[in-house]
Amino acid sequence: MISEFELYIDGKFEPGAATFGSIDPATGAVWAQMPEARSDEVNRAVAAARRAFTDPAWAGISASQRGKLLARLADLLEDAAPELAAVETRDTGKIIRETSSQIAYIAEYYRYYAGIADKIDGRHVAIDKADMQTWITREPLGVVAAIVPWNSQLFLSAVKLGPALAAGCTVVLKASEDAPAPLLAFARLVHEAGFPPGVVNVVTGFAAECGAVLSSHPQVDHIAFTGGPATARHIVNNSAHNLAKVSLELGGKSPILVFADADIDSAVNAQLAGIFAASGQSCVAGSRLLVEESIKDAFVARLLAKVQAIRVGLPDDMATEFGPLCTARQLTHIEQVVATSLTQGARLITGGRRLDRAGYYYAPTILDCSAAPDAECVLTELFGPVLSVDVFRSEQEAISKANKTAYGLAAGVFTSNLTRAHRLVKAIKSGVVWMNTYRAISPLAPFGGFGLSGHGREGGADAVLDYTTTKTVWLRT
Ligand code: NAD
Repeated sequence: MISEFELYIDGKFEPGAATFGSIDPATGAVWAQMPEARSDEVNRAVAAARRAFTDPAWAGISASQRGKLLARLADLLEDAAPELAAVETRDTGKIIRETSSQIAYIAEYYRYYAGIADKIDGRHVAIDKADMQTWITREPLGVVAAIVPWNSQLFLSAVKLGPALAAGCTVVLKASEDAPAPLLAFARLVHEAGFPPGVVNVVTGFAAECGAVLSSHPQVDHIAFTGGPATARHIVNNSAHNLAKVSLELGGKSPILVFADADIDSAVNAQLAGIFAASGQSCVAGSRLLVEESIKDAFVARLLAKVQAIRVGLPDDMATEFGPLCTARQLTHIEQVVATSLTQGARLITGGRRLDRAGYYYAPTILDCSAAPDAECVLTELFGPVLSVDVFRSEQEAISKANKTAYGLAAGVFTSNLTRAHRLVKAIKSGVVWMNTYRAISPLAPFGGFGLSGHGREGGADAVLDYTTTKTVWLRT
């Protein structure tokens, strides 16, 4: 497995200003040293991206050639899938059966944007003047700072790099200091694909220097950020320096609503994967079960049986279904929120404790919050394997409970009543509503949130337009 990592700036690999240890969450021990980018490295990465933006080696090639480079990157990703998955599993603790299955669809995102690169059109405007021709062209926005969290980072980079590069932008990609190895390994593929120097730069480092310098840099035109709402506030403040366009993909507290007429097997399975996949460390984790009161006990009993059968184990074992959290900080945070919620009236159904083994394992947890609907675990994102359960007695109550948090990223609804389903789609305040399914994604479908979940939309053809700006041209004839 790859064990040496470098920054990637202006087409070259370099060791960084210093190094820091990255921790294997399955053991809690440092497994590899990571290069740290400080101000100098970030400044050079942005300068390289700025130069590359107008360099004929990039600005002078055709849109279809940009597409070919993206398609080549997709092929390389697929070829490197086992190696990348192993690195991601080691560095983040995400189980190998999840990391290895994700890379194929990440490659599909690059292929999708490869196909869109030469389909970015302008348009003619029919101005009411006989001697005037007016048209609108689309131009790439410039230098993009893509800042991503540690979870699903290859995917979260693909939904930024794919459209940004298709549009003709250049990128400085910042990997999270919590687990930067997968993106540093990915930089090798960018290099091999043959992107000109400076078109894609990959750095990592700490928020206070690397993150702050990048997001406030005067030469950055667009900040594409995915992470938590608290960090988003810093990013928005930093963007006061460069007045860059900012897109925000933030956290969630997504409800899964189950009506008594639903296909219960399918709802139980969706709820199980919805909250416990990636040990709950997913922005779309279905962390709030809202179940019709008449089926609550039966539903929870079936869910509990499945939770008790989950195979907890080492993340690099294909048989493992549930692994550790990524950081010790996350483990402590979850412990605190669960403890507070219990004092607020939540009742423990299962879990609620660290697992007695090395590493950052927290048990799959279910809390009955029907007597504590405002408990902390109901209202705030834990980013961990903790499910709150509450009941509803009417459709109206289901909607008002679903919409009760400040977030609005995703929601799941399980019902066999199609008319009701349509009413709920309209009433639920979230960027994605999954009906009788959960977590379905596709490069063709936009994804993003309402409210505290941010305002960006990633995926889909329109995402390319976010990385362009228009130019209006007037010609007197
Ligand atoms: P985080 O906000 O702590 O960090 C995200 C990135 O921002 C990291 O690279 C970090 O170094 C950087 N950063 C931190 N402070 C910064 C600053 N002041 N200036 C510039 N950069 C800074 O997020 P995390 O804990 O790594 O990830 C978990 C969060 O991400 C959760 O809230 C989760 O829901 C969210 N998330 C959202 C989506 C989505 O698509 N909506 C997807 C995945 C994760």
